[in-house]
Parts: sequence; C-alpha cells; structure tokens
Amino acid sequence: MSITNNLNDLKAKLPKDVTLVAVSKTKPNEAIREAYDSGQRIFGENKVQELAQKYKDLPKDIEWHLIGHLQTNKVKYIAPFVSLIHAVDSFKLLKEINKQALKNNRVINCLLQVKIAEEDSKFGLTQTDVEELINNDTVQQLEGVKIIGLMGMATNSSDENQIKKEFNSLNVFLQQLSTEHSTLNTLSMGMSSDYQLALAEGSNMIRVGSTIFGGRA
Ligand SMILES: *Cc1c(COP(=O)(O)O)cnc(C)c1O
Repeated sequence: MSITNNLNDLKAKLPKDVTLVAVSKTKPNEAIREAYDSGQRIFGENKVQELAQKYKDLPKDIEWHLIGHLQTNKVKYIAPFVSLIHAVDSFKLLKEINKQALKNNRVINCLLQVKIAEEDSKFGLTQTDVEELINNDTVQQLEGVKIIGLMGMATNSSDENQIKKEFNSLNVFLQQLSTEHSTLNTLSMGMSSDYQLALAEGSNMIRVGSTIFGGRA
C-alpha cells in the first residue's frame, strides 16, 4: 500500500466536516510530499525542531499543526507559521504564545489539552483548570491567541468502552463550554487506533499518523 492509497482509503471513511491532520512525525520529507501531492494540506508534528525544519523544506501552503507538548522557551521557533497548537496546558504557555504571536503580527489558534485518560502519563488540564483559564479576564484579553476548542487523548487500551467514555466526556464538556463561548467548536480527538470511536463520540478533528504513513521505528 502506498501513502496515496492509505490516505484515499481513510478520507473515503471520513464525514465531510471532519478535519484530517496527517501526523508526519519522524517521517521524511518525501513521504509528506507524496501525501501533499495527493491533496493533503494539513500535517501534524510533535517536536518543535522537526516541525520548524519541515516548514522550511516543504511547500508554504501546508498548514502545520503542533500536536505534542510545547515548552514555553520553544514557542518562538514556530510562532511565525504554525496554524494550530493542539496541546496548550498552562496559562504561562498561553501567555508566551500570545507574546510571540504579537511579535509576528499573528493570531495563533490554540486548543486546550484536557486530561481524559486514566493513565497519569498524559499531559493535560482538568475541566476545572479549563474553566478557570477561559473565564480568566487576562486570558480573554490576549489578542494574539484564539482558543478554538479542546484536544484529548484516550487511554491506550483495548477496552473500547473505556475509550468511548473518555471521548464522550470531552465532547460533553465542549458542548457545555460552547454555550457560553461560541468560538469553541474544534474537538481534536482520535488517532490511528481509536479515530472511529472518537468520530462516533463527536470528534471533528482527527490526528492520524501510522494508518497513513506506516509504523514508526
Ligand atoms: C503520534 C501522535 C498521533 C498519531 O498517532 P498514530 O497512532 O500514528 O495515528 C496523534 N496524536 C498525537 C498527540 C501524537 O503524538
């Protein structure tokens, strides 16, 4: 199977209103090129340095998403071009993104990462943290960032009910928040192993790597 075939098979299964982020971490530029040539324009990376290098090397109409944990001191390397940061998990990080966005005359779209998995290895905010953050006056005045939704990762498990329950909790939470915050409408959840469950629970943005590009070393 080629990347083009994998991508086409995947896209055929997705509802029209679902955004596909092709997760290209660790994959070479040629692999991204192949996906690009078959029409894919949104790619996700989890490391700042790799993302910045690929941005330099590849076509400028690619929309680059940072999907991994972001350290405050690295925001400056991606602020000139990143189109969505998925894993914002602190006020401090949000303020730094705002500062770097303004330096670049940009507004950077962000998602707040919510901890939904039972495993404690995953990053993320609690629902209370999220509420405090989005209702904070200082946050609301940041002109360089736009919080457009939530991101979550389910427990890495074969228990589908567990995964569904976690995805469902994030969807319910977003629906609840969006009644008062109309800009919150992106729900980034689901990867190769669980995107079908995520879609069934209301995801409208999936981050899929190995199903498109093959396994990673
Ligand atoms: C690597 C990664 C993905 C994609 O994983 P696959 O199993 O290859 O689809 C999705 N989200 C995040 C945050 C990742 O780091």
